[in-house]
Amino acid sequence: MSTLEKGGPELPQERKIATEIPGPKSQEIEARRKKAVAGGVGSSHPSYIVAAGGGVLKDIDGNQHIDLGSGIAVTTVGNANPRVVEQAKEQLDAFTHTCFMVSPYENYVSVAESLNRLTPGDHEKRSVLLNSGAEAVENAVKIARSYTKRNAVVVFDHAYHGRTNLTMAMTAKVAPYKKGFGPFAGEVYRVPMSYPYRDNMAAGTKLSGEDAAARAINIIDKQIGADEVAAIVIEPIQGEGGFIVPAEGFLPAMVDYAKKNGIVFIADEVQAGFGRTGKMFASEWEGIVPDLITTAKGIAGGLPLSAVTGRAEIMDSVHGGGLGGTYGGNPAAVAAAVGAIEAYEKDGLLERAQQIGEIIQDRVAKIASQHPEIGDVRGRGAMQAVELIKADSTEPNSELADAVAKYCAKNAVIVLVTGTYHNVLRFLPPLSIGDELLNEAFDVIEEAFDEALKG
Ligand SMILES: *Cc1c(COP(=O)(O)O)cnc(C)c1O
Repeated sequence: MSTLEKGGPELPQERKIATEIPGPKSQEIEARRKKAVAGGVGSSHPSYIVAAGGGVLKDIDGNQHIDLGSGIAVTTVGNANPRVVEQAKEQLDAFTHTCFMVSPYENYVSVAESLNRLTPGDHEKRSVLLNSGAEAVENAVKIARSYTKRNAVVVFDHAYHGRTNLTMAMTAKVAPYKKGFGPFAGEVYRVPMSYPYRDNMAAGTKLSGEDAAARAINIIDKQIGADEVAAIVIEPIQGEGGFIVPAEGFLPAMVDYAKKNGIVFIADEVQAGFGRTGKMFASEWEGIVPDLITTAKGIAGGLPLSAVTGRAEIMDSVHGGGLGGTYGGNPAAVAAAVGAIEAYEKDGLLERAQQIGEIIQDRVAKIASQHPEIGDVRGRGAMQAVELIKADSTEPNSELADAVAKYCAKNAVIVLVTGTYHNVLRFLPPLSIGDELLNEAFDVIEEAFDEALKG
C-alpha cells in the first residue's frame, strides 16, 4: 500500500516534530536504500517524504519540515500546485508519450510560445524543449557552435552548469561534481567572475562591474581570441557557486562585448529564472537581452522539463533533425509547465518573491548584527544567501555553515549549504510559503547561529 498522502495547499501549514529526525521509518528505508541505490547519490536530508505543499514537506514519520530549498529551486510555484496537478493529470489520462519528433501535441507549442513571449527582448524567438538543465546548456552550446562555426566556450569562476560531460567541463567546482570523472570536453575556457564580496576584499577598494568585465575580457582577448569564441555562458546570478550577484554593470558589459565580437551570449537561467528573483528572469534586473536563455528547474512545478529559447536566426541556423531527444518536452511535463506558467502570470508570484526577499533580508540583517561571522548577505527576491566567515578574518567558515544547517535539519527546517567554499547558506523557499511559517524558519535559524556560536 502506498504511504503517500494528499499534498498541495491543503496540507496543514505547520512545522511538526513527531520523532527524532530522521525518524525510525525513514531510517528503515534509508537502510534499504544503502543496499539498493548507488552510493554516489546523496541526500542531505534523509527523511522520506509522503506529501508536500505550501511551505511544508511531510515525512513518513509524521514530521513536518519547513521547506527553504524547493527541491533546489524547482517547486517555486509550490509543491503539488493545483494548476500544475490538474494539467498533468488531464494529460496522463489522455496519453503519456508519443515523442514530439514523431507525433506532436499542442502543449509543446504552447510552452514554446510562452517562453518566446516571456523571455527578455521583443525580437523573433524560437524554443526547443528538453529534459534537464544540463541538457539545455549542452544544446545551447551546440546551437551557438552551429551558428557561429566557432568552437570555444567561455565560462566563469564559480559557475555551475550541470553534471554531463560537457557541463562538467563548464562547471567550476571539482568536488563533488568533477572529481575522477575526466577527461572533460575541450574548448571550454574559464575567466574570472564578478564576485563583489571577495573582489572588493582582494582589491581593497570597490571593483566596479565594468572593471570586473574588463578583467574577464582581457583574458578572452589575450588567451582565447574573440573570433574563436562561439559562446559566453553565464548565470546572471550564480546558483551553486554561492548565489553570487555580479556587480552592477558587469553583465551589460559582457553582453556588449559579445555583440561586438559576434559571440552568442547565453544566460543560464536554470536556477535564477522563472520568478525566483522577483522578476520572471534574473537578466531583467540589469535589462540585458541574452541571445539564448536556458531554463529548467522552476519551469514546470516539479516535472522534468528544460528549454533553450533565443533569437530565431540563431535557433533556426541548426539543420533539420539536429535537435531533439526521445523525451524532450514530454506530454506530462509540458502540461505541468502550462499550469506553472499560468501560476506565475496569474497568482502574483513575482510580487510574492519580492516580499519573501524582504522578510528574509530583514531577518538575516538582525542575525548578522549579532554575529560577525556573517560576512555577506546577498541575493534577489526569494533567492537569498549569507556567506559565512571566521570572526576577524575573511576565511570561509564551512564548519559554521554545516553546524547551522544541521541544527535546522534536526529542528525540521530545510536549509541548503552551497558555494565554492561550502560556506554559503542559501534560502530559496517555494513562493507558496506563508509569512508565519517563513518567520518561524528564521526563528530556528537564529537559534542555530546562537547555538553554534555560543561560548
Ligand atoms: C541545476 C542547474 C543546472 C543543471 O540542471 P539539471 O536539471 O540538474 O541538469 C544548470 N545550470 C544551473 C545554473 C543550475 O542551477
